[in-house]
Amino acid sequence: PEVRSRIAAGEVIESPADVVKELLENALDANATKIEVETSKGGKRLILVRDNGIGIHPEDVDKVVLEGATSKIESEKDLLTLTSYGFRGEALHSIASVSRLRISSRFFQEKEGYEIEVEGGKVVSKVKRGMPVGTEVEVRDLFFNVPARRKFLRREDTERRKILQLIREYALVNPEVEFLFFSNAREVLSLKPSEERKRIEELFGGKFELIREEREFLKLRAYVRRNVSHGEFHVFINSKPVSMRTLKEFLKKTLGYRTQAVIFIDLPPFMVDFNVHPKKKEAKFLKERKTLSLLRSALVGRGAEIEF
Ligand code: ADP
Ligand code: MG
Repeated sequence: PEVRSRIAAGEVIESPADVVKELLENALDANATKIEVETSKGGKRLILVRDNGIGIHPEDVDKVVLEGATSKIESEKDLLTLTSYGFRGEALHSIASVSRLRISSRFFQEKEGYEIEVEGGKVVSKVKRGMPVGTEVEVRDLFFNVPARRKFLRREDTERRKILQLIREYALVNPEVEFLFFSNAREVLSLKPSEERKRIEELFGGKFELIREEREFLKLRAYVRRNVSHGEFHVFINSKPVSMRTLKEFLKKTLGYRTQAVIFIDLPPFMVDFNVHPKKKEAKFLKERKTLSLLRSALVGRGAEIEF
């Protein structure tokens, strides 16, 4: 069974960036307003994510690494209205089975925190710890027990770049949250709490035009900067970063390839399914053609429906 969960984990967690993504999402789900990320060796040796969110209840601290442990959904119905990033209760379980993990957390109603140590999926200790409200997760020696995976990790600077990209992306869609990133004890990114436009302009260094439109069930905010030498598109659906090739291609065609754009698409939760692939950042529109047509109409500023 341990081998099986290590293999299963490998499908969700393939690289340090995948770990950072899950830990960032957990911190954001916990309503953190400040998130610090530290890595060493591109996350291969150490990944630490510290947040000031609501924390984990003392009774739950050692349960969060169990398979399917989630506090985010109670019924099937919740899936239809879900706004949190996580809901499968898979991430910490997966990370725990392929690393040396330490979780410290102080629940907002408690005077002290608890710290657990997990090795190869097993909780080996639980002790009290004085700490501020929030959670700190430390992941060491990723894939120490899965040599085949470890061998395929990229070079340190490649992994570090992927992590930075990821943090920037979550920072774009959570401008009110402070983000800090240290790599090998050096500060790489420091973003004070801000607002949407300012955060975008700070991250890209330039002025953006805002297109804000509503079309039927679709709401759109697109920050656009044209005629740049390197086009760059960041797309978020209901605040979740997505990397859907056809959607991005469609947006590039609509706005022009030499454009920097940060596009927030908001749809009623039941109109979009994030459940297609547990790890790939993909979503499926309930009414794809209709949605794309509304998108284009909103972006080019014409009321007319467009044929495909
Ligand atoms: P999911 O996010 O899908 O629920 P995870 O394995 O990522 O599953 O996390 C399991 C549970 O641990 C979460 O549902 C949450 O209750 C708790 N948890 C994890 N990280 C944090 C955090 N940073 N702050 C508060 N609670 C957390
Ligand atoms: Mg999660």
